[in-house]
Amino acid sequence: MKATIAVLPGDGIGVEVTAEAQKVLTAVAEARGHTFVFETGLVGGAAIDAVGVPLPDETLTLCQAADAILFGAAGGPKWDDPRAAVRPEQGLLSLRKGLGLYANLRPVKLNPVLINASTIKPEVLQGTDLIVVRELTGGLYFGERGRKDGGNTAYDTMIYTVPEIERVARAAFRLAAGRRRHVTSVDKANVLESSRLWRETVTRVAAEFPDITLEHLLVDACAMHLIRRPSTFDVIVTENMFGDILTDEASMLAGSMGMLPSASLAEGSLGLYEPIHGSAPDIAGQDMANPLAAILSAALLLRYSLGLEEEAIIVEAAVDRALAEGYRTPDIAEPDSETLGTRAMGDLIAHLVAKS
Ligand code: NAD
Repeated sequence: MKATIAVLPGDGIGVEVTAEAQKVLTAVAEARGHTFVFETGLVGGAAIDAVGVPLPDETLTLCQAADAILFGAAGGPKWDDPRAAVRPEQGLLSLRKGLGLYANLRPVKLNPVLINASTIKPEVLQGTDLIVVRELTGGLYFGERGRKDGGNTAYDTMIYTVPEIERVARAAFRLAAGRRRHVTSVDKANVLESSRLWRETVTRVAAEFPDITLEHLLVDACAMHLIRRPSTFDVIVTENMFGDILTDEASMLAGSMGMLPSASLAEGSLGLYEPIHGSAPDIAGQDMANPLAAILSAALLLRYSLGLEEEAIIVEAAVDRALAEGYRTPDIAEPDSETLGTRAMGDLIAHLVAKS
């Protein structure tokens, strides 16, 4: 197949890990007879430095015309003044809005060889393979907010419409259909009216998927069960802010930030794929960053935007094999053991893909 992939490396290690993900996608194309055209765009602090805004129009146009987007990370100390009028993370927020990316998917699959990298006991973690689907364009982060009473009262509004809940619920059920057929919908329906609408709507959507089981959990209970019985979850679907918090909690199950990919999906097949970590200024430019989260994000890109499931599995299997054979970047290595740099890890995965 022929596909155009927009590549937005951004800042810090975003640049380094995206290069390795692109290297692996090139290896996939060569091995399987596909043509991937890569178009690079400016975003984040790099875009502020070059043209004064975190998401130039050309970048948004490039992304709208692409089949998928590979994103690195945006931000860093250079642009960290909270009072600055333009900030790097506005680039990502504007992209989400401009592309209608309404569902954020974060798979958390524990690689058995890294089980000791987590702070949770191995016997609790055993078998963990879950995916959180977070609604991305509604809820508390987008409702009306403000101050009144001379600035002494502040308010934010959690607001959801039935169509917003339906589309993210359907995305979750469709995902579950290709997995273990279990959806956990998370809300705070004992208190919040928006959560009652959420629960009613998800329950109604569930009737369209009779072979998938649905359970409802309150968000506080979910936070507890995620670290008490993580292996019992399959697909978790939740609103924007609950998802923001639960995805960070879930990411700690896997031990390292450098291992976890994510996908943000729009209607149709367009999606943006990025590691969950940031620009890691403390290790940027030192060939130390773990590129596996970015490489696994490229695997999600193959699966969800290009429909290349076999190719996605080849990339994931190459990562598993490299880890099983003991190759590690510093963040996941035992103290004083030998490690690979960012580029060498990317070369290794590309090589394993080419051989498969
Ligand atoms: P971070 O994820 O960049 O780093 C947190 C810690 O994890 C650091 O010690 C870092 O060295 C380590 N780490 C992260 N990714 C790693 C990898 N691939 N390999 C090895 N170690 C890795 O989070 P932070 O330090 O809070 O943020 C740094 C900057 O990134 C900030 O400007 C922040 O706003 C931005 N940020 C951007 C995104 C994004 O673009 N989506 C997400 C989070 C943070």
